[in-house]
Amino acid sequence: MTSRAPTNAEAQRGMDHGNDPFLALARALTILSEQDGLRSFSLPYPREAQLALDRVILHCLNHGWTPPKSLPELLSWCTRRSVGDAEFGVSPALVSQGARWIHPIGMMPTRTCLELAPLGRPGRVEQDALNSLSALEHRCGSAGRFSRCRQFLARHPLVTHQDRFGRRWEAMTWNKVRELYEPVPEALLDRRMLTVCGTCGLPARAPSGERESGPDTWCEGEDCPPGVRFRLLREPGQCLILRRSLRAFLVAPARTEQAAMDELARIGGGHQLLADSGLGAYRITGSGLRTCLMQVYDRRQPSFLGGRVSEAFSSATDPALVVVPRRAVDQDGYRDAFETALSNECRGRVTLTTPDDLERHLRVQDPPPTQKVEGADA
Ligand SMILES: [Zn+2]
Repeated sequence: MTSRAPTNAEAQRGMDHGNDPFLALARALTILSEQDGLRSFSLPYPREAQLALDRVILHCLNHGWTPPKSLPELLSWCTRRSVGDAEFGVSPALVSQGARWIHPIGMMPTRTCLELAPLGRPGRVEQDALNSLSALEHRCGSAGRFSRCRQFLARHPLVTHQDRFGRRWEAMTWNKVRELYEPVPEALLDRRMLTVCGTCGLPARAPSGERESGPDTWCEGEDCPPGVRFRLLREPGQCLILRRSLRAFLVAPARTEQAAMDELARIGGGHQLLADSGLGAYRITGSGLRTCLMQVYDRRQPSFLGGRVSEAFSSATDPALVVVPRRAVDQDGYRDAFETALSNECRGRVTLTTPDDLERHLRVQDPPPTQKVEGADA
């Protein structure tokens, strides 16, 4: 019934029949981490964890491989082995080499783990972010108020006691978003302190007491530069933290979104946050600029991003710019994996780009620099 050419996305769709061990595993790891953390979990295991173990065991036995003997052994596999290992049942073509389920230093589900889902569909954690934003938009009642609240969330993954009594505190906005914050979970604490990344502002871990980011530390952003000092919150009981789903799917891309907005301001582009646009899509307009849609993402797995974008922009008719961090597209294979996963409907209409390259895609008259053939004017 489909005219689409077979792609990696089709392979992904083929895996979506509800029994894939990797989907059960991604779900179980996020649930386990929300309960006790993955450093010390206790019996009885949640139903989802037992189900994931059963699925992986069955998958291994069906292929004649030695299965994990227990849930602790499965978690050990998830810390040491790549997501693309055959035992987990994910097509290796769909995930970047070396991606892990659990970060060995953070001992939390990786962003890759949170992104894994059936083709085009949000995973459990992304769905929670979508539901939270949708309910907030409804509570706000106006586009301007919702836009301010969304920006507040993106800028405040953590709210301290001092923040709430500061002179610049936005009390009206806080009243609208307060319910999206919760006490800091024990699993994020070390020596009763919360370590915070100096770059992304998300929870971090420095197991040996390191004061700055480096090869032996972790932060939820997973991709921050080394040598940046951590912030230590010695009274985490006086802090509130944004829900994990919004940290992963709204805060993580926030710096890239800000860079895109700065670039739009520089080139005279206006932006309007579209109603009911999930995590947040914009319409871009401006004199001498193409009118198009724009959404900013920061995802570890380009194949799964391609699937989500295909779903998000399936019914749109305007061209769409998908803006990601420069370091993402600079990775080998990122762009190819994204484009391969796009549906035929979106191919040619959806363009992957970066904040510093927006002008090239938006200017009506200027020919793209790539059309300047080397040596053409020699
Ligand atoms: Zn960070």
